Amino acid sequence: MPHLLLSGRPVADALLESLKADIKKLDPKLVVVQVGDDPASASYIKQKLKSCESVGLRHEHKHLNEKTTLDELMSMIGELNADEDVTGFIVQLPLPKALQSHVPEVIRAIDPKKDIDGFGAYNIGKMFLSVEFEHLPPATPSGVIEMLKFYKIPIEGKHAVIVGRSNIVGKPLAIMLLNRGATVTVCNSKTKNLAEITRQADILCSAVGSPKMITKDMVKAGAVVIDIGVSRVDGKLCGDVDFDAVSEVASAITPVPGGVGPMTVASLIRNCVTAKKRQMSAE
Ligand code: NAP
Repeated sequence: MPHLLLSGRPVADALLESLKADIKKLDPKLVVVQVGDDPASASYIKQKLKSCESVGLRHEHKHLNEKTTLDELMSMIGELNADEDVTGFIVQLPLPKALQSHVPEVIRAIDPKKDIDGFGAYNIGKMFLSVEFEHLPPATPSGVIEMLKFYKIPIEGKHAVIVGRSNIVGKPLAIMLLNRGATVTVCNSKTKNLAEITRQADILCSAVGSPKMITKDMVKAGAVVIDIGVSRVDGKLCGDVDFDAVSEVASAITPVPGGVGPMTVASLIRNCVTAKKRQMSAE
């Protein structure tokens, strides 16, 4: 079956272009806090800052060393919360081992108005209400929704199956699809007969991080396949989906890299602009 390649670059470029006028007018500022030197994080941060650059968004990279204590990190978060010049900021995950168990505390410390990753309970909770309250949605699910919209893929009435239930990808994506009228099934590592469930999907989204685990026999003919997973195999980026084989049955499919990844960055920048607008209207 000839498939539509759901490339993320043109969608991300269109989204970034649409934000330029507001960025010029409102002059928001985005800050990225990095603790330690995780190589994958360094590469994601580089992409984020490059995109800020490309749209003229003011940005700052605060790089703390591996041995930073929780108190030091919390103190920086406090400063960023109080700094009126900072519109929004993210604390890049994962944190170094010593701080990993404190991630919920760290996320909770971020002012919800500046939580442009949308990971905090306030912003996640609002999403449960309806599309209208998805003010600062997590960037990756938001990017997936934008991509479906760009390629005119209907959501309403479709059965969406999501593999993965993390708080930053699987669960918020489920809510966003549900808000748009999909029937949603969310799978996890304990799910029995995974293939039986994925084969029912009109829209199959995988967010696991297990290379090529979604094989051709797990996909219904004509399904739309969104691969969110990113792993490194022999130094190369690889998705959750066995792309070549699944392409033979899918009607549309995202590549890895070049699919959801660019959308995540563009959605984060959109959140920064939204945060600025909402901060100004609240004054
Ligand atoms: P995560 O927190 O590790 O969550 C992975 C999820 O997959 C968990 O819910 C886990 O289930 C589930 N899972 C593991 N093995 C499974 C199996 N055999 N069958 C069904 N479900 C299984 O990861 P994440 O942060 O959501 O990220 C997921 C992937 O997306 C990673 O590869 C990450 O790098 C990638 N990602 C990409 C972008 C992007 O911009 N492209 C952005 C964010 C994340 P349990 O909950 O039961 O353990």
